[in-house]
Formats: sequence, structure tokens, C-alpha cells
Amino acid sequence: MRYISTRGQAPALSFEEAMLSGLARDGGLYVPETVPTMSAEDIRALHGLSYEETAFRVMRPFVGDSFTDETFGDLIAKAYAGFGHGARAPMVQLAPGHFLLELFHGPTLAFKDFAMQLIGQLFEEALTRRGERVTIVGATSGDTGSAAIEAFKGLDAVDVFILYPHGRVSEVQRRQMTTPTEANVHAVALDGHFDDCQARLKDMFNDFAFRDEVRLAGVNSINWARVLAQVVYYFSAAVSLGAPDRKVSFTVPTGNFGDVFAGYIAKKMGLPIDRLVVATNQNDILHRCLTSGDYVTSEVHPSVSPSMDIQVSSNFERVLFDAYGRDGNAVAQLMDELKSGGGFHVSQGALQALREHFESGRASEDETLATIKAARASMGELLCPHSAVGVKVADEHRAPDTPMVTLATAHPAKFPDAVEQASGIRPPLPERMADLFDREERMTRAPNDLSALETLIRERIPQ
Ligand SMILES: *Cc1c(COP(=O)(O)O)cnc(C)c1O
Repeated sequence: MRYISTRGQAPALSFEEAMLSGLARDGGLYVPETVPTMSAEDIRALHGLSYEETAFRVMRPFVGDSFTDETFGDLIAKAYAGFGHGARAPMVQLAPGHFLLELFHGPTLAFKDFAMQLIGQLFEEALTRRGERVTIVGATSGDTGSAAIEAFKGLDAVDVFILYPHGRVSEVQRRQMTTPTEANVHAVALDGHFDDCQARLKDMFNDFAFRDEVRLAGVNSINWARVLAQVVYYFSAAVSLGAPDRKVSFTVPTGNFGDVFAGYIAKKMGLPIDRLVVATNQNDILHRCLTSGDYVTSEVHPSVSPSMDIQVSSNFERVLFDAYGRDGNAVAQLMDELKSGGGFHVSQGALQALREHFESGRASEDETLATIKAARASMGELLCPHSAVGVKVADEHRAPDTPMVTLATAHPAKFPDAVEQASGIRPPLPERMADLFDREERMTRAPNDLSALETLIRERIPQ
């Protein structure tokens, strides 16, 4: 199994190499050269399996000889052992034909744990085998950073530094980053916005001397291994609703397009998915693009669903690569236009290809809050604001004869202010982390300055 770049220039890599390098050297994203398929019989055989067994069967063909069967199975088991629900990704019913896939039972209460917990295990195994050590640096507006810290804390082969905007993440998110006590965890409160965190991170990756010196590695949402881990729950959900003998649709609250792209991979593997619905908040570049063909960036408008407040949706490049017939030059040209002019136009043929798989919708701030309120009143279900965006858009796209599954991407207690504002109920944290507010916090304040950040990292990592 080889991985190729969406911009057609970088060399093909193995699973392990693609995972450890993240971004391709030509600036592109790695995708499998061919997507392995599962027959109807293979899918039928998933009925009754545990989440871990399903994960093994779905992901195994993508991993090639990077890990043995036994090791890969062990790493999957370790990755999900810390989840607070035996089913890992359980479903509840919201209405006839409408289901909610709860992806928030991991250690940091958001779906990113599914990918991050696995990638932590895979990194540790691969690096230990190679006798290498890396420095992981990430920028976060909240959920990615806490998931990364939770996944990499205490591992021997990595140090993890997370830059978050000082005073601009929720208290639960901040405490999830600042309370772990392991020596290899470094929460850095940067004086600036999320965009500043991301810009300094990019600067660090572009400082090649520093990058090599500390062996910088990235685990942001463009890492192929993260996408792969998310393919699994599309299978587990569809199978429990009758796949492969019944079609299922999914609605996915979307920011960087990673989660919904995983659904597209599941479909390409042979899972009978009817429709994939992209649900955005008021930052609706993807909805506008799928509607008009124009991918045009504007300002980010902060919303009650902050993990979807993005303008440039990094994983969208992967689906464009397919829509343009896997023409790396065409994708590279679009990305150049995006960089120089702030947008591009998707060709008629490519737009048609996208619309074969994806529908889209958006939820305004008022609609999101109204959906939280209505879901509580009519179904007794407390939704996080991101999941509420999904439920609202799903309701507009449901077809009578095909079950719709909406992905619940975070636990309501992770965003208590918005949930309380909408429903009057302040959701409590699950019992296993009820002491989060009593734990001691540990963080480093840092200026929005590249060389200060580089010095801080140099001083903290083992020589
Ligand atoms: C990251 C995140 C999203 C968006 O996921 P993408 O893969 O970036 O599309 C949605 N909801 C929550 C709670 C998240 O943390």
C-alpha cells in the first residue's frame, strides 16, 4: 500500500512514512494510491463484532507492512481502552429514521480522540522501533490540542507542545490541556489569536534548521492516519443499521473536512452510503462552494460552535484531487490561486463529481441554539452546538426510506455556556472527569514571537 501526494510531485510513501511526515514535501496531502474495497460479504461479517475488531478489519489493508497483525491489533486495543463507553461509538435514536452517533466518549469528550488516541500509539510504536524521538507541535482552538495532549502524554518517544490562544479557549478545554502532569506535555498560552498560533506553527515548520534540530512532527487533521481512524465508525454505525443490505446516509458537522472525508473513503471502500451531508455553521465556505462552485475565503466569524470556525478547509484538497480525476497539477494550480487570490472556481465537471457524493447545508447561530432547545424539549437529548448544527441540517436532508445518522462530535459539557444559554441546563461533566476543576494547572505564557517559542522548545526537550 503506497500513498501519493495530491499535488503529484512528492515521492510515494508507505503508511508509516506518510504518518510520520504529515504534509507531503510538495505541499500536498497524502492519499492512498488505490482505496482497498470490502465486499458485501466482508461488511456483513462485521455484524456483532466489537468496535476494536471492526477497526482492525477496516483499517488493516491501509497499513500494509508498516505493522504486523498482532502489533496493530494491540495498538488498537490500547487506543480505545480509555473510552468511557464499551461500544466506543454508541448510537441513540432521535426520531423515526434519525440517529445520533455519539463520538464523545473518549478522554477529551470530542470525536478527535478516535484518531488521536490511535495515532499516539502508532507513533510511539514506530518511533521506538526506529530508535527515534520527535517533537510534536500543534496549534489549537481547543479540541485538537486537548486530544493530542491526552494521546501523547507519558509516551517515551515524543514531547508534545500545544499552542493555544491565551484567554480564548473554554475553561474545560484549557483545563484539559493544563492539568496533565506528565513531563513530556507542554501547554503554551500564546498572547494572540488562534490564527497567530497557527501562523507561528507554520513558521516553525518553514524554519528548516530548527525543524531538523528538534525533529518537528505534526499531527494536525491533514495527517492521513487521523482520517483513516475516522473511517471505522461509519462502518460500525451503518452495520448496526443493516448495512450492507440497507443504505444509510450521514450528516457531518464540518470544519476542516477531515471527518466527512473519512465517510467518503468508507463509501469508496464499498459501504453503501446514500448521501454524505456537509453541515457548516455561519462560516460556510464549504456550503457555498458545493452550491455555487466558488471557493472564496472571507473573515472568520466566531460562533457558538468554535471548532468549526474555519475559512480554509484543509482536507478539501483531498476530495478535489479525486474530483479532478487525480490530476495533481490541476490541484496545485487551485491551491496557488487560493494562496495568491483568496479563492478559486471549481470546474463544472469537478463540481458535478463532488455533488455525486456530497450535499450541504448551514445553520445560523439562532438556528443552532434553537435546535439545542428543541432537541432537549422533544427528545430529551442535550446536544453540543456542533452536533446541533448537524441535527438541524440533517432534518432538512432526510429521506423517508433511508436512515440518517448525524455525527455528535462533542459532549455538551465541553461547551456548557452555549448549551445553558439555549436550554437553561448546564450539562455536568461525566463522572470520570468530575474533578477537572480541582486539578492543578500548569502552563507557560509565551509572546507571539517565533524565536521566543523556538527557544522555549529547545530548553524543554531532552538534549
Ligand atoms: C474538529 C471538530 C469538528 C470539525 O471536524 P473536521 O474534521 O475539521 O471537519 C466538529 N466538531 C467538533 C466538536 C470538533 O472538535
